[in-house]
Amino acid sequence: MSAGSEVAVAGVVTPARLIRLSRERLAVSDPEGARALAEQARTDPGARAEALSIIATCRRLRDEYPDALAAAQEAAELARAGGDPAVEGRARSEAARALLAAGETSEALEESTAALALAESSGDLAATIPAMAAVSYVYLVMQQFDLAVQLCERGAEVARLVGDELAEGVMLDTGGCATAALAIAARAGGDEETALAHAEDAAERCRSAMLIARRLGHRRNEASAMANLAELLTFAGRAGEGLRLLQSLTLDPDRDSTYTITHHLDTRGQIHLALEQCGEAVAAFTEALERAESKGAALTAAEHLAEAYERCGDPAAALQAFKQFHQLYCQVASETAQRNARVTAVRMETELAKATAEQERRRADGLLRISREDPLTALANRRRLDDELAGGVEGHAIALIDVDHFKQVNDRYSHQTGDEVLRTLAALLRTGCRTGDTAARYGGEEFAVLFRDLPDAEAVEAAARIRHLVEQYPWSTVAPGLTITVSIGVASGPDLLALADLRLYEAKHAGRNRVVGPPAPGVTDRAA
Ligand code: GH3
Ligand code: MG
Ligand code: MG
Repeated sequence: MSAGSEVAVAGVVTPARLIRLSRERLAVSDPEGARALAEQARTDPGARAEALSIIATCRRLRDEYPDALAAAQEAAELARAGGDPAVEGRARSEAARALLAAGETSEALEESTAALALAESSGDLAATIPAMAAVSYVYLVMQQFDLAVQLCERGAEVARLVGDELAEGVMLDTGGCATAALAIAARAGGDEETALAHAEDAAERCRSAMLIARRLGHRRNEASAMANLAELLTFAGRAGEGLRLLQSLTLDPDRDSTYTITHHLDTRGQIHLALEQCGEAVAAFTEALERAESKGAALTAAEHLAEAYERCGDPAAALQAFKQFHQLYCQVASETAQRNARVTAVRMETELAKATAEQERRRADGLLRISREDPLTALANRRRLDDELAGGVEGHAIALIDVDHFKQVNDRYSHQTGDEVLRTLAALLRTGCRTGDTAARYGGEEFAVLFRDLPDAEAVEAAARIRHLVEQYPWSTVAPGLTITVSIGVASGPDLLALADLRLYEAKHAGRNRVVGPPAPGVTDRAA
């Protein structure tokens, strides 16, 4: 089914199906079709994050890195706000790929490791695969080949586990590239035995990747793994075999992307050079240079062409090719610099916006807390208690707690000691009530506890426990000879505050250090 017909029926497909179809287009290397479907899905709020993530991939495949990054970051932000770590992980993997392509390696590393952690936390195994791919590409660029190989192995394993053959193939091919890099490094270090062992290992991975892609009909991946395998065979001294392998695929400009064609032509040229077939090498690199659409591919072709002419013993042609290489090099360098600057601008804008939002949130949080919290004891303040009471008092009870002879504490010891007593009382109140109840500082040395959904008799019991707790506390640790007691009034009903205040007054007059509750038998607790 072509992308066009999918778009035509988009009116009757759900956003989730659009996303799936879009991913399917990506899986057969049709980014244009994938993008058209994702553009339809993005209008749906529920599918927007995933759609943007796919759009980011399509943009990256077209070398539009700043746009790819912007889309991926918007997707990540939406997924984060929606509490979807799997989608956020995918989006951030894509952001990492865009950063990497734009040369922002350390940011790409940070982003891809964050993506992997998110994907792992989501419990969605499939979501870890793109994150592992992103991290392994970063490792490749950072020349951390061992780490890249390990991660690709893990990725291939997970892909097998979830039955994603396409991803398994990609992981095998990437692991093959990383192992090939180990082989090249070993040869450069003079360790030929290790070099050949790595090359054989790498070839094995690329061959498996090639066969998987062939079975799935994914021509682009098959061609990529095939070129890598041919290069490895040449590295191992089997150039003839490599060339035959390459020639087994007939390049077709109607079916193959320019990337695939130039990759193959370049590899073919390298093999001809290894076989000392300079004329054939020149022909392959010349064709690659003609066909190259991106400046990067042209750059590689021109460099190799100059080398081939030199080997052919044609210094004039070599110089000509080298001049072309140099010209391209200067263009690519300045374009890369400009693109990197744009990527950096997008990244910094996003970070600034995030930081500002966070600062605002903290400030608002801080203000809210200050306005509803007592600074000395960190208990709720009277405003917060009043707010809570305004929400309804049905079924609740309140205890008003006043320190006995507190003025004397200040007078005999100090105001600081008085403050310390208030803080300690606050701590006792917190431990003395259940979670869900509210302990508040109601005024100077007056506290309140709102007991939610508690019958009067039990509220009086709770208040008695608090009175006992205070009386028993070793106050002499605060100041020598210090003793503290409290009087408490307990009430419920529509006028609970006024009633509790009245009973507190009664408790004071009855001799302090006691609880006065509703007039029912057995609900008055007096100090022994
Ligand atoms: P009673 O048993 O009748 O309640 O006697 P009392 O001394 O506790 O009563 P009174 O209301 O006369 O005294 C309360 C004192 O609490 C007066 C005030 O100086 C003191 N106070 C109020 N707020 C604070 C505070 O934040 N820190 C300190 N150290 N003292 C405070
Ligand atoms: Mg008082
Ligand atoms: Mg008092």
